Amino acid sequence: MNTVAVLGGGFGGVAAAIELREHLADDGEVVLIDRRDHFAMGFAKLWDLAGIRPIAEGTRSLRNLERKGIDVRQAEITGIDVASHRVQTSAGAVDADALVIALGAPPAAQHRELLTAPGAHDLYDPAALPAMRDDLASITSGRVVVSILGGPFKCPPAPYEAALIVDALLRDRWVRDDVEVVVTTPQPMALPVAGVDASQYVAEHLDGHGVELRPQARVVDVDAASRRVVFADDAPELGYDLLLGVPADTLPQVLADAGLAGPSGWLEPDPHTLRLPGERLVAVGDCTRIPTATAQLPHAGVFAAAQARVAASNIVADLVGGADQRFDGHGYCFLELPGEQVAFVEGDFYADPPNVSLTPADHEQFRRKQAYERDHLAVWFD
Ligand SMILES: Cc1cc2nc3c(=O)[nH]c(=O)nc-3n(C[C@H](O)[C@H](O)[C@H](O)COP(=O)(O)OP(=O)(O)OC[C@H]3O[C@@H](n4cnc5c(N)ncnc54)[C@H](O)[C@@H]3O)c2cc1C
Repeated sequence: MNTVAVLGGGFGGVAAAIELREHLADDGEVVLIDRRDHFAMGFAKLWDLAGIRPIAEGTRSLRNLERKGIDVRQAEITGIDVASHRVQTSAGAVDADALVIALGAPPAAQHRELLTAPGAHDLYDPAALPAMRDDLASITSGRVVVSILGGPFKCPPAPYEAALIVDALLRDRWVRDDVEVVVTTPQPMALPVAGVDASQYVAEHLDGHGVELRPQARVVDVDAASRRVVFADDAPELGYDLLLGVPADTLPQVLADAGLAGPSGWLEPDPHTLRLPGERLVAVGDCTRIPTATAQLPHAGVFAAAQARVAASNIVADLVGGADQRFDGHGYCFLELPGEQVAFVEGDFYADPPNVSLTPADHEQFRRKQAYERDHLAVWFD
């Protein structure tokens, strides 16, 4: 009997566990381990912030996976021995024949620290949502700053979506004329991963809503006493009344401790097979760095899930035979604009240069985004 341990129950882990359960023989075991007991898609946070829908409505219990024959363990993963496929957890050891690593990427500790300043929040932290909503409901003048603090970070369009949500919330309260909205990025343009045209599209939409975009603005500090964002290269500081920061992603410590990081400091699986050096070992999603011609594959759930299906198939091939599957770098991102409109950024991210195009926003694509969530939650958890 084969046992596959899936480390992490986010986008990549859940998609991998479902694929494994379907294709491993009935006597094969799939064990999914996560410290959390639930799953929700990243964009559900911004729908909550925008008042479109509470995050709870898009949240599912990982326990539902047990109905499909997946053994779910809620525990902290504290150690991984890749040679023996033994995983140490706070609830005991799990001995497996193969490992799927999908542990995501926690926010950089130094950025979390900066965001403890008064008036500052981690835009990506669901626990910060109530306070962010309260602050946005009470601000009447001053400046809201949305700052990308470093990279890589999750879902490259999300900070711009957030700036436009802030704009809409302030307009709803008739205070927009008295509150400036600024979004800063250390990158040279809004969405380098999607190319110049998509970046221009974002910039135009921000401009059309009176949101200032400051590219090449690398945050080095947040001065808590004066409520100012401090930038590198002597760029002018930016005072804020409300700061919504996007922390950089980092590699989970347990993966570094297991000796799994490559020269980039990230897991570096084969871009097509998602295999890591070693036997019956694959890695997917935000804990990986997959170089592309211009940068790296975005940290996004759509990619994590697509990689996971391929990676899980390849583990099945290792265990019971069959041909390798290949991830071709094709994927997409939803870029949500106010008024339930979504632009669609899609293409071959592995092409040189990436062959990615943008379909301008419309409501039909918003419905496609809704369907993406609804269909995946149904297949995974119902
Ligand atoms: C605001 C926002 C909007 C987004 N919008 C989109 C979007 O529109 N489209 C899109 O494709 N992506 C979007 N994303 C990005 C997406 O959520 C992530 O890229 C995706 O979740 C990555 O999947 P993953 O499986 O690699 O990691 P995760 O989904 O983060 O899962 C990792 C799991 O591992 C668990 N874990 C980590 N370490 C341990 C440990 N030591 N022990 C036990 N468990 C552990 C965690 O609890 C977690 O459940 C968005 C993200 C945010 C924050």
